[in-house]
Amino acid sequence: MNILVINAGSSSLKYQLLDPDTGVLLAKGLCERIGIDGLFTYKPQVEGKQALDAVSVAMPTHSEAIQAVLNALVDKDNGVLASMSEIDAVGHRVVHGGESFASSVLLTDEVLKAIEECNPLAPLHNPANLIGINACTAVLGDKVPQVAVFDTAFHQTMPAVAYTYAIPYEYYEKDKMRRYGFHGTSHRFVSARAAAMLGKKIEDLKIITCHLGNGSSIAAVKNGKCVDTTMGLTPLAGLPMGTRSGDMDAGVMEYIMAKYDLSMKEMMNILNKKSGVLGISGVSSDFRDLDAAAAEGNKRAALAIDVFCYDVKKYIGSYAAAMGGVDAIVFTAGVGENSPALRKAMTEGLEYMGVTALNDEANGKRGQEIDVSGEGSKVRVLVIPTNEELMIAMDTAEIVKAL
Ligand code: AMP
Repeated sequence: MNILVINAGSSSLKYQLLDPDTGVLLAKGLCERIGIDGLFTYKPQVEGKQALDAVSVAMPTHSEAIQAVLNALVDKDNGVLASMSEIDAVGHRVVHGGESFASSVLLTDEVLKAIEECNPLAPLHNPANLIGINACTAVLGDKVPQVAVFDTAFHQTMPAVAYTYAIPYEYYEKDKMRRYGFHGTSHRFVSARAAAMLGKKIEDLKIITCHLGNGSSIAAVKNGKCVDTTMGLTPLAGLPMGTRSGDMDAGVMEYIMAKYDLSMKEMMNILNKKSGVLGISGVSSDFRDLDAAAAEGNKRAALAIDVFCYDVKKYIGSYAAAMGGVDAIVFTAGVGENSPALRKAMTEGLEYMGVTALNDEANGKRGQEIDVSGEGSKVRVLVIPTNEELMIAMDTAEIVKAL
């Protein structure tokens, strides 16, 4: 089966073509500067086929971008498919499903309307996701089934005690203001892989999944269901991130806005784009740059790393408390998968909850699923590369096969 996975942004579109049954990736790439000057990247994963790297292709709208993707996939020299009819279905990443979607769903007119109703909750992302869906329909027609996979869906199992904000309840009732959580596809994928690695049923496990990348979030997964997560109504909440502040006293906003005469839009731009480890360090949002700067004695870079690791550790402790224990801690995404030093720092001092010092040799490995727990650890510490596209393709295949 061939599933085309689409992640559409307002001026960009990432794509992968893969087989969900085998996990084999056939091609991937990116359309950038849609509506501007159109750049197209195509990376076939089949021997002997040539890639295209940021070549100019006119893409006034997302429809031309999708058409460029399809043209590349069936190109007679460098394509990976004989014809478009070999695409069995399309899976779309959709950021916000609000309270309407607790799982992935076949796209119908009714579903599209319900997604549109979630637009106010993610005004930067959902409309772009919908444009991607509509562009696919315009180019592929309605014979190819399409599925929506939501970043928020996995977290819909959270109990009210975890998702309710302590503000007047009418804002929940009237405006749906509550914790939703994001990166759900990744948390679901790695928690399922963790259970497989441990040879246990996910229903019997308490897992803390740490998705630590440019955007970061942690989830508490009890018996296969998410019971809490760090992100909130928006992906600004929880941990400090590359450029996002994470949780912070709302009073700080009032003070800064009043003193520097900033609008709400300017303040939100600071919290989303200029804060996090970039804001603390003044160096970079990239942990590799921070590591290098800290190694050269930059104290603010070191402080940024310390604040990040401290907060991760604090959430691990609080989620163990929320679940009444923990069997496994999973690290995934850019930082979680690639930084042995940070994994070590984030798990130091957790002996009280049964986590011993990591196994240095295992912790030094990269690019594979690996158990990095130290000797005698009651809690397994796992590194699991995430694969949101594969999860989207698997969901899409499951829904399409049942049609
Ligand atoms: P992601 O958003 O999952 O792609 O993660 C991107 C982030 O991973 C980058 O901002 C880097 O800070 C981080 N990262 C990637 N490789 C490493 C590494 N070897 N050491 C530390 N951080 C890394």
